[in-house]
Amino acid sequence: MVHREALEAYLHEQLAVGECTDYAPNGLQVAGRERIETLVTGVTASAALLEAAAAAGADAVLVHHGYFWKGEDPRLVGMKGRRVRLLMEAGINLYAYHLPLDVHPELGNNAGLARLLGWEVTERRSAHGVPGLLWVGRPAAPLDPGALRRGLAEALGREPTHVAAAPERIERLAWCSGGAERLLEQAAGLGVDAYVSGEISEPTAHAARELGVHYFAAGHHATERSGVQALGAHLGEAFGINHRYIEISNPA
Ligand SMILES: [Zn+2]
Repeated sequence: MVHREALEAYLHEQLAVGECTDYAPNGLQVAGRERIETLVTGVTASAALLEAAAAAGADAVLVHHGYFWKGEDPRLVGMKGRRVRLLMEAGINLYAYHLPLDVHPELGNNAGLARLLGWEVTERRSAHGVPGLLWVGRPAAPLDPGALRRGLAEALGREPTHVAAAPERIERLAWCSGGAERLLEQAAGLGVDAYVSGEISEPTAHAARELGVHYFAAGHHATERSGVQALGAHLGEAFGINHRYIEISNPA
């Protein structure tokens, strides 16, 4: 068992929350019951995740994508009102950790990607003013681009979108989980052969070709599943609480 505030204090320190400016509050976003014995993790605090968590007897839900994003309508009406009501009626605490869970050197999404794909990490760069957001490294052995595409598909269970560029071998690459396609130009400036992130939009395809870097959009959801799972497993051990990850599939 762990107390609601004790868990938040532990996560604040463990994830170095104070070192990161973010687009949403990191920490306890909706307070539920005081004692936590069962923790459910998931990528996004959607209604589907909250319903599954309530059915699993969760005292707390921990996600990568919570609520109260900068610029969002702050009112608890409509879809957001229903989600928050679901939490409050079930007495479930909602914890959300966004950028701190991308950058964490062991429990984060970028670390998880490297682990899944067997990439060696050589550097962690600041990006958008966030220390350690853009990761640089190399595959276990130089790869042709098709082999990297197959590796991503196998590791993440989803076919990536590949924009091909000139390099025939991938010896160095950079990556950032989620919606970080805009870091492509910074990655290209580091002289890598490929950049991997989650999403793609129209201008990114042209940019990849012009910058001479292979771009792989491997899925926003798919590249951000590992962080909450690693963190949940860690908390289960640290506090002797039950942890379960619930997958709500998402093709994006
Ligand atoms: Zn994300």
